[in-house]
Amino acid sequence: MSATWKYPPRLDLAHTPTPLQKMARLSDQLGVEIYFKRDDLTGSEVSGNKIRKLEFLLAEARGEGAEVVITCGGAQSNHCRATALAATRLGLKSVLLLRTPDPEHPPAVQGNILLDRLAGAEIIWITPDQYQERDELMRQVGDRLQARGEKVYIIPEGGSNAMGAWGYVRSMQELKAQLETLDDGDGCPTTVVTATGSGGTTSGLLLGRRILALDVRVVGVNVCDDRDYFQQRIGAICGEFKQRFGLPGKIDAANGIEILDGYVGRGYALSRPEELAAIRDLARLEGVILDPVYTGKAYYGLRSELQRNPAAFGQRIVFFHTGGLFGLFPIAAELAPLLDQ
Ligand SMILES: *Cc1c(COP(=O)(O)O)cnc(C)c1O
Repeated sequence: MSATWKYPPRLDLAHTPTPLQKMARLSDQLGVEIYFKRDDLTGSEVSGNKIRKLEFLLAEARGEGAEVVITCGGAQSNHCRATALAATRLGLKSVLLLRTPDPEHPPAVQGNILLDRLAGAEIIWITPDQYQERDELMRQVGDRLQARGEKVYIIPEGGSNAMGAWGYVRSMQELKAQLETLDDGDGCPTTVVTATGSGGTTSGLLLGRRILALDVRVVGVNVCDDRDYFQQRIGAICGEFKQRFGLPGKIDAANGIEILDGYVGRGYALSRPEELAAIRDLARLEGVILDPVYTGKAYYGLRSELQRNPAAFGQRIVFFHTGGLFGLFPIAAELAPLLDQ
């Protein structure tokens, strides 16, 4: 890939560029310059990081003449909610394979599930064991629909593949322009921090950094699995990207895939009181609300590292707020006891 690289076709679904906002009080508190890239503001119901990936994925779906999109995720998946609503806006149907311990007794209709249902998505509840075979299951559902004459497009978990990664190449390009306008310019050593859940966002940021020759450090805070898993996963997405679209050099574990492990806590989508307290404290300090599954954990990790060592990420930090607000409402009862403190 050279100066002639160009984006694949994209639908205009997200409100971009998203703001880059300085968190002044937080910066004072932690002794470093902290900015938030507000990718939670890409929209209201169709929002967060997933819609950036979907701009490219759904453009491809459209290009192939798809009528139904199939995707998968956890019960409260932000990706599935964004996909369901965006599909409806494009006149497409959506089928969501959602993970739940007991498909006979699916979770209450609230948070993202409520929005999935409002959007008219078809939901197929599957067990965590079945979820291990999610790609095969989505193929089977797709085959059944194709047999009925419907043209399907399958989006992998989180929209995390080479095509989806373009969404974060584009976000990195926005950030590049925004950094140039800051008082201390784009020469200030900068670390970009994001939650890593299925790896597509981190992949896109790493690819963007490479393609745009932007000199920033990229750190992903994993909210499930571990460092090895994500170095492999992100390496695979970047490898697929290189094969499909071209890329100078290689991106793998030995070439800059930096994962900050140690903040998974009780596990995916399970919160510890200290993580919820960090969400509360930031809300009260800056008026910004993080989500419990991704940004809250990543932020808690970032803050913990900085409290131990203010120099851990250099002088300037850009934290990607990737959305997820609707995931907060289903855990209101867990959060409530912290609100009187
Ligand atoms: C999916 C998601 C992430 C993680 O992004 P990946 O590309 O899956 O790694 C982060 N934050 C929010 C709010 C998400 O919904």
